[in-house]
Amino acid sequence: MATLRFKALEVAQARPAAVVRAPSSKVSDYYGTNVFGTEAMRSTLTPDTFKKLTRAVESGEKIEADVADAVATAMKAWAISKGITHYTHWFQPLTGATAEKHDAFFDVVGDGKVLEKFKGTALVQQEPDASSFPSGGIRNTFEARGYTAWDPTSPAFVFGNTLCIPTVFVSYTGEALDYKAPLLKALAAVDQAATAVCQYFDKNVSRVIATLGAEQEYFLVDKALFNARPDLVMTGRTVFGHAPAKGQQLEDHYFGSIPPRAQAFMVDFEIEALKLGIPIRTRHNEVAPSQFECAPTFEELNLAIDHNLLLMDLMDKVADKHGLKVLFHEKPFAGINGSGKHNNWSLSTNTGVNLLSPSVRPKENLQFLTFFINIIKAVHDYADLLRASIASAGNEHRLGANEAPPAIVSVFIGSQLTGLLEELERSGNIRTDKGENVYLKLGVDKIPPILLDNTDRNRTSPFAFTGNKFEFRAVGGSANSASNMIVLNTIVAHQLTEFKAEVDRQIEKGEKEDVALANVLREYVKSAKNVLFEGNGYSEEWVEEARRRGLSNIVSTPEALDVYVAEKSVKLFEKYSILTHRELEARHEIMLENYVKKIQIESRVMGDLVLNHVVPTAIKYQSVLIGNLEGMKNVGIQGKHTKHTVDTIETMAGYIGTLLESVENMTEARKKANNTADTRQRAVLYNTEVKGYFDPIRYCVDKLELLVDDEDWPLVKYRELLLMR
Ligand code: ADP
Ligand code: MG
Repeated sequence: MATLRFKALEVAQARPAAVVRAPSSKVSDYYGTNVFGTEAMRSTLTPDTFKKLTRAVESGEKIEADVADAVATAMKAWAISKGITHYTHWFQPLTGATAEKHDAFFDVVGDGKVLEKFKGTALVQQEPDASSFPSGGIRNTFEARGYTAWDPTSPAFVFGNTLCIPTVFVSYTGEALDYKAPLLKALAAVDQAATAVCQYFDKNVSRVIATLGAEQEYFLVDKALFNARPDLVMTGRTVFGHAPAKGQQLEDHYFGSIPPRAQAFMVDFEIEALKLGIPIRTRHNEVAPSQFECAPTFEELNLAIDHNLLLMDLMDKVADKHGLKVLFHEKPFAGINGSGKHNNWSLSTNTGVNLLSPSVRPKENLQFLTFFINIIKAVHDYADLLRASIASAGNEHRLGANEAPPAIVSVFIGSQLTGLLEELERSGNIRTDKGENVYLKLGVDKIPPILLDNTDRNRTSPFAFTGNKFEFRAVGGSANSASNMIVLNTIVAHQLTEFKAEVDRQIEKGEKEDVALANVLREYVKSAKNVLFEGNGYSEEWVEEARRRGLSNIVSTPEALDVYVAEKSVKLFEKYSILTHRELEARHEIMLENYVKKIQIESRVMGDLVLNHVVPTAIKYQSVLIGNLEGMKNVGIQGKHTKHTVDTIETMAGYIGTLLESVENMTEARKKANNTADTRQRAVLYNTEVKGYFDPIRYCVDKLELLVDDEDWPLVKYRELLLMR
């Protein structure tokens, strides 16, 4: 029965030793060679077209048809010179992955002749047959009229044998059906609001860009072993599996030496990533066995997200060549750390200043403090929306588990900055007319020295300040970070807008600018400080403490998602034209549906595995024990000598009975949920009723795994999956 498992183990063990490929040349020789970026454009476009394009991209203005035509022609020639035959509009549907529809460059021009063509119109807009992408009811399926539109801020690239053009995906009526469209709007909103606030400090600031460095955690497993686990294949996670004798207790994997097989894979995908202009920089082991992390240098946020999605795709393809499978799932193994995507985020000006980096000049430090405190206030006021932005079926398995950030959104800033905010809060009204040094009084003259020794990083906080950026750590490993970044940038845009209005009101009343800034900031510290938390975010005490503070702890995904359509959120998104009420309703619906489908598939896989794999195996082994018992009896051995065997048979019977009953009940619960017309209600039923059976079922299966003869057990075991040579 266990032949599949043993065959897979044989294949895995027979893999030749890994060869770490030495790059044949310097990174600078091949970096970005697969990207139609600034350099490629400058060298292929006329200076005039290049200038027009750059100007349009920077200002966000419409690109003229003749410019689009010229770019398309140059892009096509560049791609063809690389042996590329097809192009695709590359987009980010709400399913979380990326999508593409390939078209050939050639056109039939009559007389059986073809010609390589690619017009500006084909570059700018496409109408993929989009009927099977989720639209939450916005687009009539039979109409299938969604279209993709070129995002000239993210350069085209070649991947495989295809030219990929990053695009937004919208419905025929203009509603966003993807992540990129609202993200670009959120980035424009935060640019506008932050630029306005920067005017208090530096009139030369005309643009603020958000930056993102996304650290990506993942697991590597052997492809043959992966394929022998139906649950991994279908859900990306193991629904069963007893913890191995040695897991992550020793914490010896973290920053340990990277196993050669993993390293060979890393070197390969890094070379490909660098060719695509993805500035991948660090790699190391993570806490769990077979878990790793990679991180690029930060970039402009929209580009960083495209790069992260492309990287995931790339890793998947390169892993295949190495006989490996990459797991991005938030919680592929029970009892072992899950995977997240740490979103390092900041704002920086066109004048080259990182707004979250304290400087040596007091005035700039007041600017730092302004952004720092406004961000804390935004997170405080919209914590639930941030929580919603990371809600998914996968992340639900991870958040709140004791080795992952909790579902409570809090901010860690370190003891020194906490002290500084306390000082600001106590400072009272500053009267500069008495000759007081406002910066000294606020304590902002001495930020740099104190930050230098701010090394006590808190790894358990979902949102931590790490010296010159904030790091949002609760984003799921498989998620599109855009979901979280749309919310973060929107709430910060809103907060900065409110802040500026308040400061201007005080200035109009005759207050001095610095004092007005300090006054408003002081009030913010007072009203937002209960979101600050320095302790262990994974502890039980924090859950209690957060409850006392009135911070929310939304554990279930359907409940978390409701925040998207709450009045406060709708107002916010509409005010900054990020998403309309209709779009939010559609998104809410899509995410709930997605949740239902994921839990449904997991539940079905569990049922199948129990009925077709686990129970038959258990019964077979039980029969062996019964046969043994009968044989013993025949030779006269009974009583205390066979007690243990009898006990085992009985225990197994108990588990088998519970399993059969639970699977039947779970199937009934699924039927009941499936017959519920309302999506929200269906999602709730899947969350409470269907998912409620997962743990009890798993408990019995994992116990049986310990009892049944290893030779017979059909599923590849944790110790086998997690072993990386
Ligand atoms: P860690 O100790 O968390 O691994 P690193 O210094 O390696 O921290 O940085 C993690 C990520 O943060 C990297 O991707 C890095 O490029 C990014 N990062 C650094 N500065 C900024 C910034 N100003 N904005 C956004 N991301 C940044
Ligand atoms: Mg980090």
